Amino acid sequence: MSKTFEIAVFHGDGIGPEIMAPTLRLLKGLGHDFAFTDCPAGAASYLDCGFDLPDESLRRARRADAILLSALGDPKIRYPDGTEMTPQIDIRIALDLYAGVRPVRVVPGMRTPLALAPDAAIDFVLVRESTEGLFHTQGKGRVEADFAEETLRITRDTTTRVCDFAFRLAAARKADGHPGRVTSVDKANVFRAFAFWRDIFDRVAAGYPDLTADHAYVDAMALWMVQRPGSWDVMVTENMFGDILSDLGAGLMGGLGMAPSADIGDDHAVFQPCHGSAPDIAGRGIANPFAMILSAGMMLDWLGRRHDVPAMVADAGRLRDAVDACLAAGETTGDLGGTLNTEAAADAVMARL
Ligand code: NAD
Repeated sequence: MSKTFEIAVFHGDGIGPEIMAPTLRLLKGLGHDFAFTDCPAGAASYLDCGFDLPDESLRRARRADAILLSALGDPKIRYPDGTEMTPQIDIRIALDLYAGVRPVRVVPGMRTPLALAPDAAIDFVLVRESTEGLFHTQGKGRVEADFAEETLRITRDTTTRVCDFAFRLAAARKADGHPGRVTSVDKANVFRAFAFWRDIFDRVAAGYPDLTADHAYVDAMALWMVQRPGSWDVMVTENMFGDILSDLGAGLMGGLGMAPSADIGDDHAVFQPCHGSAPDIAGRGIANPFAMILSAGMMLDWLGRRHDVPAMVADAGRLRDAVDACLAAGETTGDLGGTLNTEAAADAVMARL
């Protein structure tokens, strides 16, 4: 008997529910055996029950086979200390989701700011360590009258795991025709913590003699991602560097509305768009659903490979191809220059499928 996959669904705030609804419709249309479980969280949940990540939602997420998460947060709703709630980060820590996977693909129809040759191929993946680094003291930083201090933490265990993840990803991509190369993005010329990171990266690399391993400094990488974005395959980097470079990657694709992501650990994974809840356009039904749909595609790929369901892996590819076809045909929302609303853009993907 085929397995029922339980998917924990965080509908989110602002445009979150608007892009999640058509994404779930698309997933249901694919005919796999999914059971979706709602998980309240975010600003609306905080107003409702006093918790931005209620225990029951985290329990459901922990129990699920995969977690689909839409944008969370509302800049008007804050903790007494002035910071915003970030349940999407709390989930990463709670479920040990150390590998943040941020694909950067530029395809025809995207509003990339780059002047590209028609045959230019940009297709790389940024792997961002997502549980430590400069986020180690998030919410616990020291602020005195005349100075403030946060601590960067790099551990051997997590760095080994995230580098190993990057090499396994490069090996899988190599099977699909990519070069099989992993670049460590660090700042080992200045900080001892990054020399430590680099040493661990090199040790992991030694276990993958069929792949190429090299290094780049993060400042140079910011330049090279713009100047020669077609040169990269898989990059692996620290949490804050990855946070910044992944938005640069989204910029190469013409904006956050096209940037999907996954946060993956050994036992759990969250799939979510890189963008936030876009309060400036919420409630108007015009948000671009493609990043959410592509994130759902990443979920299909991950579940299909993990549970050996080739049809699911194939559907992940079909979903991505359908979004690419819509982009090429200009069947897009206003942020990409099209005229479709959220539902119509998702319907266009369904029609292409
Ligand atoms: P944002 O990503 O929500 O919006 C930035 C700009 O991009 C806005 O002009 C918005 O209209 C546009 N945009 C974003 N997604 C879009 C889409 N799908 N279609 C069309 N346009 C889109 O960033 P922000 O304004 O800095 O943050 C808003 C809220 O989201 C804040 O509360 C923030 O904390 C939260 N946030 C959540 C996440 C997350 O859940 N992972 C990530 C970032 C920000």
